[in-house]
Amino acid sequence: MKVFFDPRQLGHAPEVYFRRGMAMPHQEQPKRAEILRDMLLSEGFEIDAPQDHGVRPIKAVHNPDYVDFLPDAYARFVESAGTEALAIPTMHPGVRRGKEPRDIHGQLGWWMTDTSTPLTPGSWDAAYWSAQAAVETAEAVLSGARAAYALCRPPGHHAMRDCSNGFCFFNNACIAAHHLTSKYKKIALIDVDVHTGNGSLDILYARGDIFFCSLHPDPANYPTFFLGHADETGEGPGVGKKLNLLLEQGASHAAVLAMLQRGIAAAQDFGAQALVVSLGFDMAADDPLAAVNVYPDGFAAMARKLAGMGLPTVLVQEGGYLGPSLADNGRAFLTAFREAIR
Ligand SMILES: [Zn+2]
Repeated sequence: MKVFFDPRQLGHAPEVYFRRGMAMPHQEQPKRAEILRDMLLSEGFEIDAPQDHGVRPIKAVHNPDYVDFLPDAYARFVESAGTEALAIPTMHPGVRRGKEPRDIHGQLGWWMTDTSTPLTPGSWDAAYWSAQAAVETAEAVLSGARAAYALCRPPGHHAMRDCSNGFCFFNNACIAAHHLTSKYKKIALIDVDVHTGNGSLDILYARGDIFFCSLHPDPANYPTFFLGHADETGEGPGVGKKLNLLLEQGASHAAVLAMLQRGIAAAQDFGAQALVVSLGFDMAADDPLAAVNVYPDGFAAMARKLAGMGLPTVLVQEGGYLGPSLADNGRAFLTAFREAIR
């Protein structure tokens, strides 16, 4: 199974964000990708750097003005603020009416929903190459690979069409899913990261060609909040093609797997011809952002269920933070998936 990753993805190095009223150590650290990369090499996976496919596949799912804002935003922030502090917005429009400001501080608030995506000198390169890894992985599957894995970091599934959110700049899974529509008429995107795939839901809500299912605790009580409720089932051509499956907080591995089976059945009823998985390891019982109780065996079981769909598959890395079992969870899922498709 091919793996794609570019070392420039390590360049986004945020120190803090604000949570519960305090500056907290930022959890989305380069170390996450290094741990997964080292695990993959020790398990005999070959890792290739993606080619440069440009901004076009990114702009296919994001507001082009948002994509164009990011490359020099940090440099403009430093020039205006007179400091090399993290570029974090402190003002937000609240509604999407009005106009994008010209001032960099206003623009940060226009294009970012929260404090979790601070810009650092390497942020643009990291987000850009994370997206390229997703595109390259989709290309591998379009070229006939049964499955391939994008070691995306920064992650993507919270990024919405018009804005960053929840550690995410570009929605790598949606970029990959859209890329696959050049060959496949019906794609399923299944999100097993513990958090709501709110960005994917936003981007795909009215699309009839991409089925989307996310497993997560009720967003009424669990970050990143706001989107991912059970009654959000799509609009227009997307009606009935979006499925939010709510987990009890503290749910067991068996309960999570039963819910995943429901999502898989719905994707099969939809008639999916190819699969994208938003693959988070933060369903782990010991993840720093833990909400449910999945252990390495559970991740291996998830992999076997998803591989058992028998579809060309793009695996896209999402969350999974610096807990003690990150490498074990990644190893369990990815080696089980590789074994299941042999
Ligand atoms: Zn997550």
